[in-house]
Parts: sequence; structure tokens; C-alpha cells
Amino acid sequence: MLTYGPDAHYVPAENRYETMPFRRLGESGLKLPVISLGLWHNFGDDKPLATQRAILRRAFDLGVTHFDLANNYGPPAGAAELNFGRILQQDFARHRDELVISSKAGWDMWPGPYGFGGSRKYLVSSVDQSLRRMGLDHVDIFYHHRPDPETPLEETMRALDHIVRSGRALYAGISSYSAELTARAQQIMRELGTPLVIHQPSYSMLNRWIEAPGPSGTSLLGALTEAGMGSIAFTPLAQGMLTARYLDGVPEGSRAAAEKSLDPGWLTDTTLEKIRGLNDIAAARGQSLAQMAIAWVLREQAVGQVTTALVGASSPEQIQDSVGAVHRLDFTEEELAEIDRLATDSDINIWAGATESKHE
Ligand code: NAP
Repeated sequence: MLTYGPDAHYVPAENRYETMPFRRLGESGLKLPVISLGLWHNFGDDKPLATQRAILRRAFDLGVTHFDLANNYGPPAGAAELNFGRILQQDFARHRDELVISSKAGWDMWPGPYGFGGSRKYLVSSVDQSLRRMGLDHVDIFYHHRPDPETPLEETMRALDHIVRSGRALYAGISSYSAELTARAQQIMRELGTPLVIHQPSYSMLNRWIEAPGPSGTSLLGALTEAGMGSIAFTPLAQGMLTARYLDGVPEGSRAAAEKSLDPGWLTDTTLEKIRGLNDIAAARGQSLAQMAIAWVLREQAVGQVTTALVGASSPEQIQDSVGAVHRLDFTEEELAEIDRLATDSDINIWAGATESKHE
């Protein structure tokens, strides 16, 4: 049970539902805001709780109702769920039913053979841990975080079905699965009676793998349409590369300076040239580059439509700027053609290996 914390004075903006568009998630009845906030970075014990709280408050005030977590987000692993749970209790307890809260398991979480992968043993224990950390009785969406070549796909899907049927999650999803594996996973889940509603792939103007046909001739976006699933595109800002952050070098305090998941070596002259060109196009549209990068993943002219863009933010100002994307989501054919010349794969997809599986 959630109880009110010591500071229950947060009153969300009354107009929070006035500008954010919501899209229906595939063939499900669930609607998601076109911009969702992820807590992979910036919500660990290395960041002040007050900043985390300010980011979450600002996001919710702007209509962002979907917060994306995973068991291993931190540092240390688990800290983001703990910190989110604290803020939830203090600020959002009254608004729990206005929120979609997601978690995942798949990457390394605890020592030994049961702390990673796709086994029923790992997934069920992990979701129970996530619920305890966040102080929740259920999450809205639970994902298998990446394919596990060692576990039969049937076992992983049965575990997701069990997690939903037992009330631990309302909906099930998968992340970083290929087009072929997604189709098989959905077939199993349909037979079990708990269709997958969402896929979480990486996608940005510098990482376009979900548009490319796989061995079966279908792209992931095409496979999702066929499977009746929605999608949430993660790292639409290429971890910050598709913003004005790195136009004049690597600033102190930025993710590239932290030597974590964004390798500053990716900011080559060629890639920076593309980013500068894209920045000029964004300026001509009256948007920041971050706003255009978000609008682009959400564009209607894609092979299949992305439901929501999953961004990160290290300050309330960043999430506010990013949400401003909703004021201009449309693109002319000319703009898209100009963007296509610059928006080419740039070797930044560190999750590429995770899509491969012996199941294909
Ligand atoms: P991102 O939105 O591509 O990058 C976020 C970073 O960009 C911020 O930390 C900030 O960098 C910078 N930024 C954000 N808004 C900005 C703005 N308006 N102007 C200038 N800079 C801005 O996404 P991400 O944080 O890498 O990932 C988003 C979420 O996707 C994660 O939190 C997680 O929920 C999810 N994800 C899922 C997987 C998976 O395997 N399923 C993998 C990765 C991520 P600074 O920190 O430098 O300020």
C-alpha cells in the first residue's frame, strides 16, 4: 500500500492533459503519451534526489504519464527503482492510476545463474524485487529486456504470461527482439491468451535498424504492424548526440564526458557534420534539434508507426525542451528527403548484438 510521504505538497499542473497527444498502443486499449521518460541514467545514487524529483514533476506537469524503468537501472543496479519508489510515494501516490509504470528484466542483475537471461526463475523473482523496490503491487508493463539464446522462447513467453495472469503486470512486452523472433514470440503469446502489446527497440536518426528488412524480408516496424503491437523507441536522441549538446565539443557533466554508455569516440568529424546539418534543418523548422529528432521517430510516413519516443533527461529544462516537440510533429516530403541524406547509421547501436538469438 502506498502512503503519503512527508512532503505531499506537489500539486500537478491542471492543464497537464491539454497539449500532449496520446496514441493507442498497437491493437491494445492502452494509450501512451507520444513522449515517455526513461530512468536508465540520471536516477541512480550518483544524482541528487531533488533533481530526480524535479525532472519527474516537470514531466508529469507536461503530460508525460509513462515512466520506464528496469531492474538494473542505477547505479548501483536497483537504485533507480528505489529512488523512483520514494518519489512516487511522496509526490505521485494520489496519481498512481494516471501513470503507466514499466519495468524489465533480462540483463545482468544479481550474481549466479538465476540473475540474468530469460528463465522463468529469473523473470518472476526479478519482477517481485522490482515491485518491492518501487512499493507497488503491480507494474503496468513488464518486458523481457533482451533475447536470451539459452532459454527456450516458450519458457520466457510462459513466464511473461504468468506475470500478467498473476497480477504482477497488466501488459507484457519485449525489447531488442528481431523481426523474426518478435513474430514467433507473438504467436506463442496469442496462443497463451496474453498477446504482447509493445516492443522497445533503439531507434534514432543515427540508428535506423528497425526500418531494414531482416532475413524474412520484413523489417521490425513491419513485423510489429503485422503482430498488432505498438512500439516505444528508445534513445531517440542517440543518448544526447542528436541535440545541441556536442556541437562545440564535449561539455563537462555530459553523458559523453562520464565515460559510460556514450563513447565520445562516436563524435567523429563525419558524424558531427551530419548532426550540424540536421541542426540546420531543425532551426529552419523552428525547433531545437532534440525536438526534431523526437518528432522524426514519431513521423507518420515511416514503414510502421512508432507509438511513443522514450527519452532521457538530466534536468527539468531538458524534458521541457523535448516535450516541445509535440508542437510540430509533421514533416513535409522535402524535409524528410533532406533529413534522409544525413540520417544514416553511425555505428552507435550498442544493443545490436542483443537482437540475435539461436531461436531465429
Ligand atoms: P536519449 O533521450 O537518447 O538521451 C538522453 C540524454 O540526452 C540526456 O541524458 C541528456 O544528456 C540529453 N538530452 C535529453 N534531452 C535533451 C535536450 N532537450 N537538449 C539537450 N540534451 C538533451 O535517451 P537515453 O537516456 O539514452 O534512453 C532513454 C530511455 O530509453 C532510458 O532511460 C531507458 O528507459 C530506455 N532504454 C532502454 C534500453 C533497452 O535495452 N530497452 C536501452 C537503453 C535505454 P546529458 O545527460 O548529457 O545531459
